[in-house]
Amino acid sequence: MAVKRSARMADERPLTAWQQALHWWGMLRRRVDVPGLTLLTATIIAIGIFSLTRNAAVVGTLLMAPIALIALVRGWVAGLLVGGTAALLTAPYLQGQESLVKPALNLEVWAPLGLCYLALGVLTGLRGDLARRRQHEVVAEMESRLQHAQAAAERYEALLEEMSQGHAHLLRMNEELALLNGIATAVNSSLDMARIMDTAMTQLGALMRVDGLAVYWTSPAGDALALEVARPEPEDTPAAVIRPGDALLWPAIHAQRPVCAQLDDEPRPPGISPEARSLAAVPLRVGARARGVLVLSRRNGEAFNDDDANFLGSLARVLGLAIENARLFARAQELSLSDELTGLGNRRLFNLRLGAEIARSRATGAPLCLVMLDLDFFKRINDQYGHPAGDEVLKQFAALVQHDIRGNDLFCRIGGEEFALMVVDAVVLEALAIAQRICRHIGETPFVLDDGTTFSMTVSAGVALLDGSIRSVEDFAVVADRALYTAKANGRNRVEVFTPDASVPLPDPVAGEREDDVPETPVRR
Ligand code: GH3
Ligand code: MG
Ligand code: MG
Repeated sequence: MAVKRSARMADERPLTAWQQALHWWGMLRRRVDVPGLTLLTATIIAIGIFSLTRNAAVVGTLLMAPIALIALVRGWVAGLLVGGTAALLTAPYLQGQESLVKPALNLEVWAPLGLCYLALGVLTGLRGDLARRRQHEVVAEMESRLQHAQAAAERYEALLEEMSQGHAHLLRMNEELALLNGIATAVNSSLDMARIMDTAMTQLGALMRVDGLAVYWTSPAGDALALEVARPEPEDTPAAVIRPGDALLWPAIHAQRPVCAQLDDEPRPPGISPEARSLAAVPLRVGARARGVLVLSRRNGEAFNDDDANFLGSLARVLGLAIENARLFARAQELSLSDELTGLGNRRLFNLRLGAEIARSRATGAPLCLVMLDLDFFKRINDQYGHPAGDEVLKQFAALVQHDIRGNDLFCRIGGEEFALMVVDAVVLEALAIAQRICRHIGETPFVLDDGTTFSMTVSAGVALLDGSIRSVEDFAVVADRALYTAKANGRNRVEVFTPDASVPLPDPVAGEREDDVPETPVRR
């Protein structure tokens, strides 16, 4: 800015007369740029010199300089004209005429002099032409080099631009690879679905500005999708099954590639926040089959682009396998903790949950009761109707009791025809009431076999309350078992409550020994 202002100020200064003259001369030169003008100028100079000196030798000599100069500047044609003019100008001084100058010229002098003028003009003109041609060549070459240099500079700039784009691309790829690696390491080191999703959410949230994600998994028949897990966790339990026809999830499954969508008022898949504006549905493949869909959402409406889709495609391969592994592991865990025949939890699950509940009860002071149940004379069913009939009785018994218990209580099959019920936040009287209700219900309900055979069953139960003398899950089971055996000993189809007896100490859990000094109620393992 400062430079421009000073330049304008310089322009505004008034021109001197001399500068003005030069200016006009320049303008005239630009408009009348012909050899004739130069010739005229040379003639005027020569006449001027002649008028001043009236001496042929001086005129002749002085004319050499303008001839040479003009010829040099204007080329050989101008040189010829100027030389010829000079020769003609000196012609009037030939001897025999009324000479204006002293000494007068004779033909022998004039002729070589004129020829000299011409030769000087032409030769100097040729020299000027050569110089100008060379100059033009140099200029042309420089211009061509300049053009080359400009083209090279443009190419260089384009290359720089490409490199900077490539650099940005590489940086992003690097970030994506690091993220992918981080997620792969994290999710592969965990078989816990919740942890996998939390890891994915944290990592994706940072790089892809994602603020919600959900995983949907196909049913075994492959004709429905169900929400498996969502982050953030939905407040209310969303509709379970998504049938084909959903405009986002099923196309991703069928096309086996990410599908992106911008939503306004359209319904979102279950588990996705209603505030989500941009969605990307990525098929989760296990082997060649798409087994599920990962949906990522953004509330700010920023659309998912091709780069995002490419990255998500790679991510889906990692996540698909991890989620499948987590599902298999959860299923295996479920199986290892459940009883195949009745579908109830098994002894392992019962002991795990009872241990946790004992700890909670100790911490909070909440009462906790344990009820042991054993079908009466069950062996007779096997003996009379066969083992499958016994199985059927066990199933029906399990279903009946499940129906009678409270939602928070846990009912498991812990042995052949032995069951256990954990009654939480309940004192002995409440547990007793529940056990008696079960006994009554079983006694009143006919058991029916496939062939229509009907018979009745009874069950005995023992109830124990967690107290200070109980140090472990095993201790708790022992005291409830004692009550159960009392019930058996007292005629079956009844409930007994364990009452602590100082004379019968609990077994030492370290030695694993059990006291068994009550003959009617042998302690069973
Ligand atoms: P009690 O009233 O003293 O409990 O007599 P009980 O016949 O019920 O008890 P006992 O311990 O004599 O017999 C239990 C029977 O349960 C023995 C075993 O064959 C049978 N049993 C154990 N597990 C299963 C099973 O999974 N299916 C079938 N059908 N029978 C089983
Ligand atoms: Mg029995
Ligand atoms: Mg038994």
